[in-house]
Amino acid sequence: MPAPHNSADSPVMRQYLEIKGRYPDAVLMFRMGDFYEMFFEDAVTVAPLLGIAVTTRDRNAPDPVPMAGVPYHALGGYLRTLVERGIKVAICEQMESPEQARRRKGPKIVRREVVRVVTPGALVDEEHLRGEEPNYLLGLARDEDGWGLSALDISSGDFLVCAAQDEVTARAELCRLAPREILAPEDLVPWIEACFAGTAPRIEVCRGEPGARAQEQLATLAEQSGTPPLPPALARAAGWALHYAEQTQPGQTLLLHRLRWHEPAEHLVLDETSTRNLEIFKTLRDAERRGSLLWAMDETRTALGARMLREWLGAPLRDPAAIAARQDAVEALLAEPAVRDELRSRLRDVRDVVRLASRARLGSITPRELGALRGSLQALPDLAAGLAELRGRRTDGDLPRLLDLGDDLLADVRAELERVLVDDPPAALKDGGVVREGADAELDHQRQLRDGGRQALADIETRERERTGIPSLKVLHNRVFGYFIEVSRAHLKKVPSDYVRKQTLANAERFVTEELAGHEAAVLGAQARALAREQELLAALRATVSAAGGRLCAVGEALARLDVLAAFAQVAERHAYVRPRVVREPVLRIEQGRHPVIERLVAAGSFVPNDIDLRAGGVAGPEDLARLWIVTGPNMGGKSTVMRQAALITLLAHAGSFVPAQAATVGLCDRIFTRVGAADDLGRGESTFMVEMREAAQILRQATAASFVLLDELGRGTATYDGLSLAWAVAEHLHDQIGCRTMFATHYHELCALEGRLPGVRNVHVTVHESRGTIVFLHRLAPGAAGRSYGIQVGRLAGLPRRVLTRARRILERLEQGGPGGARDQLDLFTAPAPEAQAGAPLSPAVQAICDELDALDPDDLTPRQAWQKLAAWVERLREDEG
Ligand code: ATP
Repeated sequence: MPAPHNSADSPVMRQYLEIKGRYPDAVLMFRMGDFYEMFFEDAVTVAPLLGIAVTTRDRNAPDPVPMAGVPYHALGGYLRTLVERGIKVAICEQMESPEQARRRKGPKIVRREVVRVVTPGALVDEEHLRGEEPNYLLGLARDEDGWGLSALDISSGDFLVCAAQDEVTARAELCRLAPREILAPEDLVPWIEACFAGTAPRIEVCRGEPGARAQEQLATLAEQSGTPPLPPALARAAGWALHYAEQTQPGQTLLLHRLRWHEPAEHLVLDETSTRNLEIFKTLRDAERRGSLLWAMDETRTALGARMLREWLGAPLRDPAAIAARQDAVEALLAEPAVRDELRSRLRDVRDVVRLASRARLGSITPRELGALRGSLQALPDLAAGLAELRGRRTDGDLPRLLDLGDDLLADVRAELERVLVDDPPAALKDGGVVREGADAELDHQRQLRDGGRQALADIETRERERTGIPSLKVLHNRVFGYFIEVSRAHLKKVPSDYVRKQTLANAERFVTEELAGHEAAVLGAQARALAREQELLAALRATVSAAGGRLCAVGEALARLDVLAAFAQVAERHAYVRPRVVREPVLRIEQGRHPVIERLVAAGSFVPNDIDLRAGGVAGPEDLARLWIVTGPNMGGKSTVMRQAALITLLAHAGSFVPAQAATVGLCDRIFTRVGAADDLGRGESTFMVEMREAAQILRQATAASFVLLDELGRGTATYDGLSLAWAVAEHLHDQIGCRTMFATHYHELCALEGRLPGVRNVHVTVHESRGTIVFLHRLAPGAAGRSYGIQVGRLAGLPRRVLTRARRILERLEQGGPGGARDQLDLFTAPAPEAQAGAPLSPAVQAICDELDALDPDDLTPRQAWQKLAAWVERLREDEG
């Protein structure tokens, strides 16, 4: 808090400091006329971020106050920059005009108040929000009984609560919810930062219990929503979120429709590693949406649907009945392409009704947004009619439950919007023109007076022209003088004596008359009254929408569901997906499965489908069940692709979608685990191998017989034999102790020996075609182990220098002579072999040296002259050796 000094000791600066004192941790943007000004530290820290200059308020004072300002109309852009950097901004507005301040009693300084506090988790404006993502403010707390997570999207009123029993679940949920801002006690901050490995969102530290008002509100909400009683940690987390929301929207009531209870055990859990590895929401390499599963599945037409799709993919179901309900709906929509097209094209007119309802509740919905809401509600009868048609076409005459929009299509709200709003409402009320003619008698009357006055003014022009005989005489209007009569210089002599001169221009003079002034007053008065009336009507309309907030949320949810299910049907049709059979047995049988993303990225028709058949009968299951596949084959052969497609098909099936295959039976899973590739996690300061082992440890600790585990090249981050031994032991443990479905891709061909030893292990390999030293990847799975690795051929395709390739081939030959699995020191393998290892007589050192040089030599790299020089050198060396 800056100490007040001379230059700060003006009434307005005292007001500033008083308000700033209430928001010490925020940058205070202080409205002064057409600018938002920042002072002291705020100005100094923020100016460089916004690219604006720091000036001073009072240059001549001994200790001038630093100041930086932005024009009021450009606030949005500056605000976004600050909020994206995690800065908290308090917006302080003038609550009255300077005239009002002068006229009223008390101090003459304009009254100012903070109207909202903007942080990443407290955004409500459409321009700051991404329609396809929730904007969660997450409360996090922990006690001896467990963890509480609450995710509140202030912009939509979506409020989700989740009690997690253990740290791992809490972490998975935290990452899944991808909050924009977190409220947590100080001691959890390091844990949160570790969870996000350097990319944590803004964290606001909370202390003590949330305010009583928030607790009360929460209790009521929980009761209305029929959730179980919130455990203490969860109540604290949710209370903080509510309290913070209240603080950031002072004096407003949020649109809180209900509490959504999220039960981790009811969902297929993907921890953050698997979500990242399987590229569910963004790609691994460049964090792009294109190339992710979400991208492949997103045929939604509304922001509501896009957000729901994201949630469905992030938290797939485990209840077969709930999954079947989604599948039934997709199937119904798939069967009727014409109806589906009609529904989807009508969904285009549906805007984000939930966020609009929330903005109506917060009082910030604009006339144009009310128009968008009207358009959305107008689409409802057509959508309902489309669904009725769908029902009519079904043999059972029943509409799948999830496609029902409900009985309340908000006809009353729609009618009111239609009655009051003009066809194309402006973005702001500023100049009026929001309310339709005929909607309100009082408004119509004032408008008539205003327009009548305007007509009277036009009549004056005609009459005065006649009276004065000046044909060019005009009645004009400007902001400074209001209405006036303009006469060009040539006719000045004809101006009557009752004209009062107002202004002289180069070629003309401007006059007013008493009559003109009288009509002007009438016009302006009527105009002001009309605007005031429009303001009242608009407020009433906002109130109507706000009161219907809960109903809008309900219909919004139904629309979102319809949109996602129609998107699933659309993808299924366009890309030939089938309805998977979802069963309770721990199996995974996929016929001609494809990778939903890669099949679209490779040339059309070139993706090679593959079958998968995993059957985990439990640890003591019958001998013929293969629950663990060892997948071998060359790099680039398609091992990762086939494993990921198995996981993605499993996930899609749990989300209720159809899947890219000819047929699929998917047994319910509790979790999908992936340990894919080797990525350094420098953010956490751990090496490749450490990350690999930590992830493997987590899998072995948490996997159950109902899990699906994917291991890609486990162990490659360390020395060969260590890695191999670990991989071997991990595979055994998964097979013997856990008995889950597992796919294990490896370059350790030694692991293939497990097939004979363990009953549930099968070897499969990705095939290649080899001819004359080059290879073609067939990407087709076949039974049995790969004959060889083709690593050197792949190196050649990748453009390694021939010298390196030749040397590598030699080393490989020697290694293969040594035989796999021997207990030789690994380092030994790479030292040059001793002369006696070669066939025949021992070689002299000179001969050996020449042989080594020849080994590494590429004739193509030599000019004839260089070749001759080498030859001459060798001959000389041999002669010396012999001599
Ligand atoms: P590495 O061992 O180096 O990790 P890999 O065997 O896991 O390699 P993938 O990454 O699965 O190989 O596949 C490499 C590339 O081959 C893919 O990016 C894709 O372009 C192509 N590919 C893989 N599978 C198929 C397939 N079934 N049909 C067509 N193309 C495929």
